[in-house]
Amino acid sequence: MKKTVDLRIDAGWIVPVEPAGVVLQQHAILVHEGRILALLPSDQADAGFDATETVDLPGHVLFPGFVNAHTHAAMSLLRGLADDLPLMDWLNRHIWPVESAFVSADFVRDGTRLAIAEMLSGGTTCFNDMYFFPDVSAQVCEQAGMRAVVGLIVIDFPSAWAGDWRDYLRKGMALHESLRNSSLVSCAFAPHAPYSVSDEPLAEIARLSAENGLPVHIHVHESEDELRSSVEQYGVRPLARLDRLGLINERLLAVHGCHLDDAEQTLLAQKHAHVVHCPQSNLKLASGFCPVAGLLDKGAHVALGTDGAASNNDLDMLSEMRSAALLAKGVSGDPTTLPAHQALRMATLSGAEALGMADETGSLTTGKWADMAALDLHALNTQPVYDPVSQLVYAAASQQIQHVWVAGRPMLRHGELLSLDTDKVIGTAQAWRARIAEHIAGNQT
Ligand SMILES: [Zn+2]
Repeated sequence: MKKTVDLRIDAGWIVPVEPAGVVLQQHAILVHEGRILALLPSDQADAGFDATETVDLPGHVLFPGFVNAHTHAAMSLLRGLADDLPLMDWLNRHIWPVESAFVSADFVRDGTRLAIAEMLSGGTTCFNDMYFFPDVSAQVCEQAGMRAVVGLIVIDFPSAWAGDWRDYLRKGMALHESLRNSSLVSCAFAPHAPYSVSDEPLAEIARLSAENGLPVHIHVHESEDELRSSVEQYGVRPLARLDRLGLINERLLAVHGCHLDDAEQTLLAQKHAHVVHCPQSNLKLASGFCPVAGLLDKGAHVALGTDGAASNNDLDMLSEMRSAALLAKGVSGDPTTLPAHQALRMATLSGAEALGMADETGSLTTGKWADMAALDLHALNTQPVYDPVSQLVYAAASQQIQHVWVAGRPMLRHGELLSLDTDKVIGTAQAWRARIAEHIAGNQT
């Protein structure tokens, strides 16, 4: 008697990411109640199972959906607003003034929707966010069926979302409580950066993180300026300050890490902290180069993120993965650094590990949620296929991603978004651009 499952997908190539380096052919993946029931040879699937829905993708490579381990989703509405500037000038003179005039629940709802539509279209099935109104971001994710970790932002200055650090934390913890039963959305603390959050809130976050087992997601060692001002103000570099405050541990996601000396790399490795590498943002802001080879050699965990669309300027994990693989070789002077399969792991499973979600997503493993993407390799730029992972990392374009599932639910089918209306999302973004551009023009006259 055959067992009936919800969904069976046969793909030309299946890359589970776990075990490392494996590429399967003539295999099928079976999904039931949103989770991966089995990954097995197609003939065994024929013999043992019927499926309510079958999807046959002979020219595609099926792999775990990308985990974008650092972004600011709502900032998609500021894409291309202020390019080609240094970090502090970009933040102080352009981004923060516009944010203080426009950030609201509506801005976050519409910007997050734009970001989710872009991410799902590019094969991302989970993202780690840092922005104001995380309650609104969480709601948008639930409505769209997107997996996310929303950041409980804390910053020293008031915003439309909260007044002071106690208010930020109070609202954040209330959101965490309200999401306890969500299978899609969870929380991490998201103090913005060592230069924008004082010791007292950071110490309280360290305490609450330990008590609740929540990750802490913070920009750190992004620019030379940040290091200089920390030494002037606190007498130590930011990472040493975070260590003093009890924040360097397995729950830490240290975003950027462009300037890490050997001792700092060793500290992060020994304490099992995670570095989130954002190569395109670092290149665009000329922040520096994350020492990926050194970190990996020392056994540190490195995940991958796009950062926000205002500093990237897209949320395309496929191109981010390629940038990471190429940059790691260029920076280390060693072409064997960050090979294709390891780059794919960095963009998937390593992100899930950083977020404490490796039992739930990040690889095509029995029991995990069926968070998956399928890319059509039948294109001039990805033929012939010796190793589909080489094509994914070094040759493919995100437009070749044709199918995406989150928890077994189809999100993208033949390149069409199912849970969001693309035209409506674009129309709303254009309306925001008009308002913001008018405001900037008004301030200049
Ligand atoms: Zn960022």
